[in-house]
Amino acid sequence: MSVSSSTVSFVKSSASQLDADARLSDMLNQYGRLDAHSLLEEVLLKEFKGEIAVSSSFGAEAAVLLKLISDVDKDTPVLFIDTGHLFAETIQYKATIEDYLGLRNIITVSPEAIHLENADRDATLHERDTDYCCHIRKVLPFEKALGPYKAWVSGRKRFQNNERADLQPIELDVDGRFKVNPLYNWDYDKVIAEFKAMELPKHPLVDKGYPSIGCGPCTRAVKAGEDQRSGRWSGQEKTECGIHKSPSFEAIYI
Ligand code: SF4
Repeated sequence: MSVSSSTVSFVKSSASQLDADARLSDMLNQYGRLDAHSLLEEVLLKEFKGEIAVSSSFGAEAAVLLKLISDVDKDTPVLFIDTGHLFAETIQYKATIEDYLGLRNIITVSPEAIHLENADRDATLHERDTDYCCHIRKVLPFEKALGPYKAWVSGRKRFQNNERADLQPIELDVDGRFKVNPLYNWDYDKVIAEFKAMELPKHPLVDKGYPSIGCGPCTRAVKAGEDQRSGRWSGQEKTECGIHKSPSFEAIYI
């Protein structure tokens, strides 16, 4: 009986999924109870040495994770997505933090000209379709930038919203990459306390009422008592830009 090539590739992909699941389980057993600094030492210097990047928006709290990263390895690649719609204050803040922490490998990731030409020539797509706009300005460029890496570090925390309530210290993404969340169990008070203890420069918009900062057209200041991320895509059901979801979205739009 002959075995088709599709059967062989299905068996191979099932086997690699099992390997990845087993590796995730091992890592959670070994590193799952470490503090943020120790977890970063393990993944940056040992488990994924040379194969891991960090994602940073250089938003309101981003400097805390970047400080921890810089304490472990200042040459860690930091992927910064410049959508073309960021606040000028964020671009300035990125330069401030880069200099302050001595980060040596910040990689700015931009949307592809062909995607903007095809779908957002006048840069107003965000007014009509925020999912599609995030897709071409954030998700696709980020997925391309992640290409060489087997793992990445995110600054997400459980307290930020319901979708993040079950966040684990290490996850396996649908694309087969591992995602490390060193701050997964930090609450807001701890973030603020560490930010102060580390004597980090503040994003200039924080004191103007922006506890969470994305693109200019899709971020507003929040009022007293509002959820921390309520100023993001305000008035829409959208709560995430999409970089934490399946990359298969590309097949729909491009
Ligand atoms: S946050 Fe708004 S402007 Fe930025 S990429 Fe998404 S939809 Fe476009």
